[in-house]
Amino acid sequence: MSVPQSIYHAKELDRNDHLNGFKDEFYTPEHSIYMDGNSLGLLSKRAESALLQSMEDWKTHGINGWTDAKQPWFYMAEELGKMTAPLIGAKEEETITTGSITTNLHQMLSTFYKPQGSKMKILADSLTFPSDIYAIKAQLELHGLDPEEHLIQVNSSDGRTINEDDIINKMTCEVALILLPSVLYRSGQLLDIKKITKAAHEKDIVIGFDLAHSIGVIPHDLHEWGVDFAVWCTYKYLNSGPGGVGGLYVHEKHLGQKPGLAGWFSSKKDVQFDMSHDLDHAQSAGAFQIGTPHIFSMSTLIGSLEIFSEAGIHHIREKSLKLTRYLMDLTNEKLLDYGFTIANPNEDHRRGGHVCLEHPEAARICKALKNSGVVPDFRAPNVIRLAPIALYTSFEDVWNVVHILEEIMDSKKYEQYSNNRNIIA
Ligand SMILES: *Cc1c(COP(=O)(O)O)cnc(C)c1O
Repeated sequence: MSVPQSIYHAKELDRNDHLNGFKDEFYTPEHSIYMDGNSLGLLSKRAESALLQSMEDWKTHGINGWTDAKQPWFYMAEELGKMTAPLIGAKEEETITTGSITTNLHQMLSTFYKPQGSKMKILADSLTFPSDIYAIKAQLELHGLDPEEHLIQVNSSDGRTINEDDIINKMTCEVALILLPSVLYRSGQLLDIKKITKAAHEKDIVIGFDLAHSIGVIPHDLHEWGVDFAVWCTYKYLNSGPGGVGGLYVHEKHLGQKPGLAGWFSSKKDVQFDMSHDLDHAQSAGAFQIGTPHIFSMSTLIGSLEIFSEAGIHHIREKSLKLTRYLMDLTNEKLLDYGFTIANPNEDHRRGGHVCLEHPEAARICKALKNSGVVPDFRAPNVIRLAPIALYTSFEDVWNVVHILEEIMDSKKYEQYSNNRNIIA
């Protein structure tokens, strides 16, 4: 059955949407439809006032802001960890706001990658984000190991997705640690974290996930599933702003373990200022912090995470699935004749928060979209990612994006642009 194609249907979907009211909480760029919230989320008014509050605290308290700020800076990372925990299905003490994905990966690999005897290898996939692979290779080299030999990357049979059984088949007794994305950043494939984690543990392998493209859009049950560790950023779906501080999770069973990369913020908080040269590390995920938290780059989260707690991650996922389904349905009706392929998995349980369209002219189609007031995301050589965001994208926005795209293809407007990428894509 085909989807009703009139804009009135889109408006009807918006009227029946319980999350509709959150759109007004966000600053949306004027005269444009923002479809890139999976790369950099938009600013909410609450995130803005939380940041301004931190500046005000600095203004009025100086150094005493560490204890006297509205949200005391000394405990902010832990407080934000508590606010993040429900989004990933973790206990409060398993979660901390700190670092970036890549620095947190270095911390996790330094802590949990312990090559021994014949169990020396790290297993990853061949489609993941480059930074994750750079971190793995650098860590192998720090151990004096050759990445050519010790990093195994599971191949993709279609260049878009990774088959879970192919991952499981690579879990030999030589593998010490596995790192995988929850959602693949290009195709938006959602991996079965529970199943993969279970298989890893049957082989006695430590497993961690990069939640960059699932946190804030998909619920997780990390503790229940027994995932050993996870890392994420907050500037994508969590709307913390450019360079916003990321986070990490370590399963309860590993808490108390010594951090591979130690610093004074790894300390138990009550003894940190004793200034001892013997670190007494925290017994929570806080132990995996290193230095002074970046207060201004994390205080936005105080406001932003409040919105997530009000909206509820299950409601967010529900709407996100409806939005991407609607976008795919309209694409099927309107755009396939112009040579687009929908490259993300179709099933709800295998689909993340964005739609991945492939087209040989993708680079210049994206330029034409930008000039027509749509903000897409281009990944070389041929991918257009469109992310309708549950908190601030309406069904009418989705309808408009498809119609603008149809108009660009129909008029061949994209031919005015060169088919190569800009410096940032
Ligand atoms: C966005 C993203 C990153 C970026 O890492 P940072 O250290 O936060 O810059 C890394 N890995 C994945 C999978 C990503 O999607």
